[in-house]
Amino acid sequence: MEPVTQQMPTANTVAGADKRKRIALFGSTGSIGKQALDVIEKNPDRFTVAILTAHSSHDLLIEQAKKFQPSVVVIANEGKYNVVKHALASTSIKVMAGEKAIEEAAAIDDYDIMLQAIVGFAGLRPTLKAIEAGKSIALANKETLVVAGDIIMQLAVEKRVPVIPVDSEHSAIFQCLVGEARNKIEKIVLTASGGPFLGKKPNYLVNVKREHALQHPNWSMGAKISIDSATLMNKGLEMIEARWLFNLKPDQIQIIIHPQSIIHSMVQFEDGSIKAQMGLPDMKLPIQYALSFPQRIANNFPRYDFSRSSQLTFEPPDTRTFRNLSLATEALQKGGNLPAIMNAANEIAVYGFLRNRIGFLDMTEVIERTMEKMPFIVQPSLQEYFDSDGEARNFAASMINL
Ligand code: NDP
Ligand code: MG
Repeated sequence: MEPVTQQMPTANTVAGADKRKRIALFGSTGSIGKQALDVIEKNPDRFTVAILTAHSSHDLLIEQAKKFQPSVVVIANEGKYNVVKHALASTSIKVMAGEKAIEEAAAIDDYDIMLQAIVGFAGLRPTLKAIEAGKSIALANKETLVVAGDIIMQLAVEKRVPVIPVDSEHSAIFQCLVGEARNKIEKIVLTASGGPFLGKKPNYLVNVKREHALQHPNWSMGAKISIDSATLMNKGLEMIEARWLFNLKPDQIQIIIHPQSIIHSMVQFEDGSIKAQMGLPDMKLPIQYALSFPQRIANNFPRYDFSRSSQLTFEPPDTRTFRNLSLATEALQKGGNLPAIMNAANEIAVYGFLRNRIGFLDMTEVIERTMEKMPFIVQPSLQEYFDSDGEARNFAASMINL
């Protein structure tokens, strides 16, 4: 096992006399995007906004653009171009529209770090463009690494671009590894809250509805990741994300259910010593850390208080009930294009569930059947990853009758 090979940044990139980091916030209207803007707003001496992007939430994008004055905004939904353009006509902000424009914006040499907070496969192409342009990446979009983690990390090493995790578990591991570059990792322990259906069995889950599944006990998040947390697919995606971020073998990754979400994850080194990163569950902390790394910034976020503490508990995951975790383990172990296939089928299955087309347990069926049916490629090219994604999506959608 090699130590983390990716480049660690040393200091702010300096653009002219202004030493503030210029942030390109992709997916600014989402759960992570909005929290990132809160962090940026609280630290006006450190951060400015260079680019904002959204898919369709034009009102919020316009409001954010007026407030943060980026040089570019992009709305992926082209039908919303005119309304955004009109609203920002009196400003010097450049307005772009369309899926391609999201990629083009990522290649603009007008920012220091991309915060990638688009949801799903749609985050992959702009991330590639940013790395090609030599930009640092603060990565919330785990699907990017699930689909093409080998290619992304290889490119990042070639371009000497740091990929700093925003996902709380991976931020925890990243923080535990600071100062440990020469020390071997024996294993990592990814903690999982267990989601809203912890302890439930299939006879209960079969009747679960969208609204219930969207209620996460500890975190308030976007719809897709909330469903992924309820099915435990989120932890499956995170295993694969961790494999690439930290250059691990599948058997070096352990999942443990920790319902309180206070320990955000742990690293066990070859001498048996275990480091954990802890705190109250609040995504603003890993977002802030990714943007300010290697520094920490003082803040007034609520603190975890040991003297008032309830218990911290741990239990193994119930993979017989939450079979997505077994499917993800299979994808992690086999590798190739299987994680990309699984991810695509999952995106379609979650979409179907959110629209009440299929039941909670049907999601696993859709993913499993798609993983069985799609041709396996041991070492896919980037194009083959894209093709696998498209074919798996079509196959999964045909099962749901979308
Ligand atoms: P949201 O659904 O809340 O936000 C997604 C953002 O991406 C929105 O700005 C949305 O625009 C935009 N978007 C959606 N589809 C597209 C597309 N096809 N092209 C361009 N932009 C698009 O998601 P979250 O903020 O919850 O999650 C974002 C990512 O971060 C996910 O990969 C998730 O797994 C990861 N993450 C999230 C955590 C959380 O606490 N929320 C924790 C850890 C990781 P619009 O608003 O216009 O639809
Ligand atoms: Mg997470």
